[in-house]
Amino acid sequence: MSGTLYIVATPLGNLEDITFRAVRILKEADLIAAEDTRHSKKLLNHYGITTPTMACHEHNETSKAQDLVQRLENGSTIALISDAGTPLISDPGYRLVSLARDKGIPVVPVPGCNAAITGLSASGLPTDTFLFLGFPPRKQGSLNTFLDNTARHKGTLIFYESPRRIIRLISSAITAFGDRQACLARELTKQYEEFLRGPLSKILDTLETRETIKGECVLFIEGDDEQSAGLSPEQMEAMIMDGLNQNMGTGELAKNIARLANCPKAQVYDMILAVKKRS
Ligand code: SAM
Repeated sequence: MSGTLYIVATPLGNLEDITFRAVRILKEADLIAAEDTRHSKKLLNHYGITTPTMACHEHNETSKAQDLVQRLENGSTIALISDAGTPLISDPGYRLVSLARDKGIPVVPVPGCNAAITGLSASGLPTDTFLFLGFPPRKQGSLNTFLDNTARHKGTLIFYESPRRIIRLISSAITAFGDRQACLARELTKQYEEFLRGPLSKILDTLETRETIKGECVLFIEGDDEQSAGLSPEQMEAMIMDGLNQNMGTGELAKNIARLANCPKAQVYDMILAVKKRS
């Protein structure tokens, strides 16, 4: 009889945000596979959990998955945890779960915290449809393409981002989407929890007045809403003609009009090319 692999969600910051079931399973498991065993000690000590731990992180997951699956096949019960929130969600564990599934080992989720859902619930942005995008690419070119590709999505967009890159993400989002409504959730469930709400430009202004931006961030941006476009196609075309008559560059013109029209830069870019071709 094989054992069971439990995928256990842990708190985002506030140690009370863990379920009774999660604590019981962590106590009863034969082994806890943790992203960072030293980091998880604080949580385990707080709840008097003395189960042995083993490190399983993005750099050793491929080899550890084999070892852990072998133990599961021999009957061990293993609980997988990450540093915060739900394992596998922008965290390690995918290789382990998929290998365990391939081998027919039971995989049981033990639900709890997740930064995207926690922040979304209090963001004030639509929650009926949303697109979780995780961490966006770091290189500017790839980031722009990534954002342009999501510009037409109707539901709320959700990004994880480091505080070091959050200003760049917001500026790039204004270029790609226009000045949409947004919410930045910082330090969820922690002492300095903060929600910044409003148009992207307002959140950007607030952040730019700060000496440093600290803590963990989730950014929510409203989806594409054709009703909210600030300019009609005729008005956009007139502005394009004006800009071209003033010899403005296509990129700059697209950026300016996209911001005013609250629509993706790529869409305006295509309109400019069409106008150029006609004239
Ligand atoms: N597995 C986690 C989950 O379920 O949300 C996410 C892990 S991912 C490596 C870390 C990112 O999650 C952070 O960079 C941040 O974007 C987000 N995050 C985690 N904890 C957060 C918190 N307390 N407040 C805001 N964002 C948080």
